[in-house]
Amino acid sequence: MSGTFVGMPAFPEAAHEAVHNATLRGNLRHATHTIRAKRAKAVAEVSDWAALREAGKQIKDHTLRHLDRYLVQLEESVTTAGGTVHWAADADEANRIVADLVKATGETEVVKVKSMATQEIGLNEALLEEGIHAYETDLAELIVQLGKDRPSHILVPAIHRNRGEIRDIFAREMSEWGRPAPEGLTDTPAELAEAARLHLREKFLRAKVGISGANFMVAETGTLVVVESEGNGRMCLTLPETLISVVGIEKIVPTWQDLEVFLQTLPRSSTAERMNPYTSTWTGTTDEDGPQTFHLVLLDNGRTDTLADEVGRQALRCIRCSACLNVCPVYERAGGHAYGSVYPGPIGAILSPQLRGTQSEIDASLPYASSLCGACYEVCPVAIDIPEVLVHLRERVAEGGLTTRDGNKVVLKPAKGHAAERAAMRAARWAFSHPGALRTGQRLASRTRRFHPRTLPGPGRAWSASRDLPAMPAEPFRDWWQRTQGGRKADSK
Ligand code: SF4
Repeated sequence: MSGTFVGMPAFPEAAHEAVHNATLRGNLRHATHTIRAKRAKAVAEVSDWAALREAGKQIKDHTLRHLDRYLVQLEESVTTAGGTVHWAADADEANRIVADLVKATGETEVVKVKSMATQEIGLNEALLEEGIHAYETDLAELIVQLGKDRPSHILVPAIHRNRGEIRDIFAREMSEWGRPAPEGLTDTPAELAEAARLHLREKFLRAKVGISGANFMVAETGTLVVVESEGNGRMCLTLPETLISVVGIEKIVPTWQDLEVFLQTLPRSSTAERMNPYTSTWTGTTDEDGPQTFHLVLLDNGRTDTLADEVGRQALRCIRCSACLNVCPVYERAGGHAYGSVYPGPIGAILSPQLRGTQSEIDASLPYASSLCGACYEVCPVAIDIPEVLVHLRERVAEGGLTTRDGNKVVLKPAKGHAAERAAMRAARWAFSHPGALRTGQRLASRTRRFHPRTLPGPGRAWSASRDLPAMPAEPFRDWWQRTQGGRKADSK
């Protein structure tokens, strides 16, 4: 079984440890830079990308505003098509529903399509307590599960592993779970993929129950959609006799026409593909074709509380493309595990503290796990203003806490800064609120620039050892503006 995030330390401590792991940093840097460059190219091909992004944002906002109506419509559509809908208020209820459904089939094994919602609720661990083994079939999820590891990326959960590490995990662990890895397995991608294919195939052919999430649910027809690259999802969705899908309530889109927008923006933002290799859709059940029993478990688990927050609710627009992770300088250095959640990176920093609503150091620290550079907002295909939500959540932390889903106030302590950093911030506040002193200081700094040290003394030495201090201009900007623009306001045309 994979490891869990329970009991993780706050972000600063976890990140502090991670940045000292040179292998991890190398793996992350290589992977994120590769995906980032490919995404930029794929997006640049689309002339109306900005319009698509705005359309995605509008569709999601409209749906969230009328979520009550669309959820009821979805339930009616799924029921009419032969499925059964279950409502789960939290993780415990969802896990109980799924475990009971599997037990009712008499099976003790299930195959799974990669699903963030089931990771969020700890479904695999809950099923194991009931004697049911859940087998992950996505390649990266398989690596994480066999390695008794935790996912560190939304799209590529084993992004922190290199090929050599994956070969070792396969050779060591596969025999414990089923078909062993071939003798003499090397770390070439083709051999690793073939080992996974052989290992998984016997599980696909044996499984009577499949469990999935969904990328989208279309309210007008009750259709669920899973997009993927490997074909394992298609196997899980079609071969078993019973299919159980656990999906967050925010994954609804009203119509197929709305879906069209996301089927363009999601693949380019996530895997830099023009379209997903596999797009599977299913609507209830069909006689003699695919699973004959279909259950949809609609998961709340903190989403309606998130919806109640006027600023924070935009996090529910997320389509889990992971583009924000791949451009984030903090994620690139700290890695996904430091976020203490299945949702790492910028989206995790705003989603986890809202969804979990529990008192923990990690939730208090996550809104501070960002430099607020804004790269995440730039690439987000549904225009979630992540920096805005981060600052909003910092305010809530500083003001005395988040509110839990049962209405209790949770007091969260803001992350403590370094004493020198706090002193510097106090000095900056004083200077910016005394314009005359600021101007004098700037002129003095410009005139003495030849004597400025190249490295900082004392505790600042470590910081400046790996960075160039900014060069001081010969003339402060304000003096230059006064001289060249004659006092004209900077924003006048
Ligand atoms: S926040 Fe935006 S960029 Fe990040 S995973 Fe969600 S949709 Fe993608």
